[in-house]
Amino acid sequence: MIIECKHVWDYISGYLDDSLPPETREIVQRHLDHCEICSAVLDSTHNIIILTGDDRVFELPAGFSERLHARLAREIADVSHEQRNDPAS
Ligand SMILES: [Zn+2]
Repeated sequence: MIIECKHVWDYISGYLDDSLPPETREIVQRHLDHCEICSAVLDSTHNIIILTGDDRVFELPAGFSERLHARLAREIADVSHEQRNDPAS
């Protein structure tokens, strides 16, 4: 099963607080292993949780998720654009 980045982002909070079903977690893990963008999202999300100092609560500032997704969507568009222009890939 292959999932897209935007689906991984939906799973990241569950991934971090270990609430995903094992099979979903494995799919997300496999995606994170090869996807730099989602790894970066995981890192920054993890940092936010550390900053809040409470690992039982996962709450992003209002609008954060939308801005993050918009930025990532642009980055993904850039990446696929580069790949299209690179005959070696
Ligand atoms: Zn990804």
